[in-house]
Amino acid sequence: MSSTIKHRRVRVLLPLSVGDVYDYRAPASLDIEIGHFVTVPLGRRELTGVVWEEAEDSDLAEDRMKDIVAVLPCPKLPDESRDFVDWVANYTMQRRGRVLRMTMSVPDALFPRAPRIGYRFTGESPSKLTPARSRVLEIVMAGAVHTASDLASLAGVSVSVVKGLAAKAVLEVVDLPAENPIAKPDWGHVGVELSDDQSAAASRMRPSVVKPDFEISLLEGVTGSGKTEVYFEAIADCLEQGRQALVLLPEIALSAQWLKRFAARFGVPPVEWHSDLGQSERRRNWRAVIEGRADVVVGARSALFLPFTNLGLIVVDEEHEASFKQDEGVPYNARDMAVVRGKIGNFPVILASATPSLESLVNAQNEKYTHVKLPSRYGGASLPDIEIVDLKEHRPGVQSWISEPLRLAIETTLGAGEQVMLFLNRRGYAPLTLCDCCGHRLQCPHCSAWLVEHRLMGRLQCHHCGYTTRLPKSCPECDAEESFKACGPGIERLTEEAERLFPDRKIAMMASDTVTSPQAAATFVAAMERGDIEILIGTQIVAKGYHFPNLTLVGVIDADLGLAGGDLRASERTYQLLSQVAGRAGRETRQGKVFLQSYLPQHPVIEAIARQQGDAFFALEAAGRESAAMPPFGRLAAVILSSANAESVASFARNLARRAPIAENLSILGPAPAPLSMIRGRHRHRFLIKCARDVNIQTVIKKWLQGERVPNDIRLQIDIDPYNFM
Ligand code: ADP
Ligand code: ZN
Repeated sequence: MSSTIKHRRVRVLLPLSVGDVYDYRAPASLDIEIGHFVTVPLGRRELTGVVWEEAEDSDLAEDRMKDIVAVLPCPKLPDESRDFVDWVANYTMQRRGRVLRMTMSVPDALFPRAPRIGYRFTGESPSKLTPARSRVLEIVMAGAVHTASDLASLAGVSVSVVKGLAAKAVLEVVDLPAENPIAKPDWGHVGVELSDDQSAAASRMRPSVVKPDFEISLLEGVTGSGKTEVYFEAIADCLEQGRQALVLLPEIALSAQWLKRFAARFGVPPVEWHSDLGQSERRRNWRAVIEGRADVVVGARSALFLPFTNLGLIVVDEEHEASFKQDEGVPYNARDMAVVRGKIGNFPVILASATPSLESLVNAQNEKYTHVKLPSRYGGASLPDIEIVDLKEHRPGVQSWISEPLRLAIETTLGAGEQVMLFLNRRGYAPLTLCDCCGHRLQCPHCSAWLVEHRLMGRLQCHHCGYTTRLPKSCPECDAEESFKACGPGIERLTEEAERLFPDRKIAMMASDTVTSPQAAATFVAAMERGDIEILIGTQIVAKGYHFPNLTLVGVIDADLGLAGGDLRASERTYQLLSQVAGRAGRETRQGKVFLQSYLPQHPVIEAIARQQGDAFFALEAAGRESAAMPPFGRLAAVILSSANAESVASFARNLARRAPIAENLSILGPAPAPLSMIRGRHRHRFLIKCARDVNIQTVIKKWLQGERVPNDIRLQIDIDPYNFM
């Protein structure tokens, strides 16, 4: 009997930004299954990818087919993860390979870890005892086993000291397990006693967690109402079912207080996932997730792409935060994609916020989401009194930004032994530096943006590309010497003013560029809790989630700051941010007070915050969006073209505009130079596509761009549901 053997063929998805799936032969000897991580030849390289699907229909000639080389010793990528990658790629209109790359973010974790060896004390004393050697001895005599590098860093000596002691038979080598183990959170560790409101909220969310079932709950509770305690109960329910839970936080690196509370509730810390992790921690945590050993992961938006095997709940805390939207790489909104992930895995998703996004509120109103409310602060603390300071009436002096009423309130608060927070959402010393003689403004050479002075660093910095330079001695335009003048305040300058007004007080400043790591954040939190800070001055990072019982006064230096600009969500964001800031005041028994300094006291946003009328504000905002058919009542997408060559990008944009689709329920704005018309030396043009909710915006864009060859020097980026309009 003779027949040609048709070998089994499969499609392998490679985590490449340009690539999609490639067909390979699956040798019978390898026993290949869908989801296996495999190495395959591509050109002259060998790459790692995932077996995505069967390829019976592959029509590639047999002699062009190559064999899969090996199956890696790692659990398979779960079906849910594959579906999620496909879904996200399709929705965001990105190559699947780019999305898979977010899931395969730790390529090392796929390979077996080299066995580790540790060092143990033999009981033998060294003949010669140096100070370095005695520090090592002190540690090993306690009995524990450490790797050479851990031991060296614990003792503050070089690795050669450890190796030297081993050579002298003072230390001996022992095998260590490949990874440090992951601690198991205990759902029954200690529960707090929930208030009636809180337990009512927890019980409403329980059934879908226990079953589990796809349900989205919008957990809306005023600041200090105890939302965290309530969703901890949902996590406990999820753990009791033996499933994994994921919590997304907007600023994970700054979540020291949150981590402490988690450990208090569940006995051990959660598994973390964010950009501050070291390589070996990333490896360990990724592996623990795919092996189902990581029970609770808390992370930044990228944690959503981890290969969970048994996910049963996602919580998105501060769901309104714009930082859940990624603009670079694959543009996606982690809050929206969390909902998709829940749908794919058929488990519940909890969106928590004191000031939910308009999108989520509308979904709650339409009963797509279950609206769970916590109407009052825990323990009977009342919401702060909010007062508007009309800056036209109470103008601060020259080069000053603290008005007289605010200054008096600070004095009174400090006098009572309480803490003050001053909020200004601007890093650095001054947002603009100009020449006093000719008016020349210092601009970034690579971006259409002003340079921001950071006086503490002694430099000017571009907040768009990171370019920094020294303040020039003379004006590049008119040669005047030492003629530069700082315009407007950043928090460094505000700190100077506070130090002038309150010279004997302990003042600290906090911004994303001064508090950059979890340790730095924890140090700051501890100082605040001990009362080592009396006046805290900060940008938006101090607005988020912190609970300081003795903080009773919040001063918002420029409440109007976020209102300008053509951003669709400018009002909404200002409302959310200022409500969050205000929510830091008076969180326990003492009454909190908030001063909003504004030149626009009658602005609907400022009034709504002052009167604490969130519902009325959102009704107004929703009506405005609806009449303009803007999200969530319509769909938006942006197409951004950029190139180092200004002419070529402009001409390509005109070319695309000529072929733009025309339809009744669709409008295309642009092309227009982007408000930030140059970033990192690239000239930018934007289109904005707006259409009705029932139009498939991806199809519209696909048809439009089909057959259009994008010149090599031009980058075309599609951003579905854009949050950034610059
Ligand atoms: P939110 O996130 O809604 O602003 P938090 O969850 O931070 O509120 O809670 C505010 C404070 O009240 C925290 O210090 C928290 O520990 C405390 N708290 C809330 N609920 C309880 C409870 N049931 N028992 C004890 N303390 C609680
Ligand atoms: Zn720049």
